[in-house]
Amino acid sequence: MSDLKLCQGTSCHTYNTKDRLKGTKENKTFQTRRRSSFYYGQGNFCSLNCQNDWFYDFGNKAIDHFGRLTEPKKLTEENAWIKTYDWRGGVDSSHRFYTLNKITQEQRPLTEDQYNDSSYTLNER
Ligand SMILES: [Zn+2]
Repeated sequence: MSDLKLCQGTSCHTYNTKDRLKGTKENKTFQTRRRSSFYYGQGNFCSLNCQNDWFYDFGNKAIDHFGRLTEPKKLTEENAWIKTYDWRGGVDSSHRFYTLNKITQEQRPLTEDQYNDSSYTLNER
């Protein structure tokens, strides 16, 4: 029982589903869902509905707490590199890996290891 997590949805207990109904005859209550894992909101919510309820109640506070954008973010040439590949199926299934600059459209070849290395990037940090 102790390994179970509670859905963090602020209105989870108000959705009248059978699995939320707990207790015996005269002590029945609808309760927040409790599960070993959840799929939504980094494992914090039982449904997209519950995630949205939380954001509706706390979203503004959360954004203000962690920093509200006051100017648009800009993707510049220096940080516009993405990793991609051309898929090659068939007998020779070696894909062509490369980095692509989304601003200049310049391409530079990558090895498969560089492609799979999450710390490898041409972007400035
Ligand atoms: Zn929920």
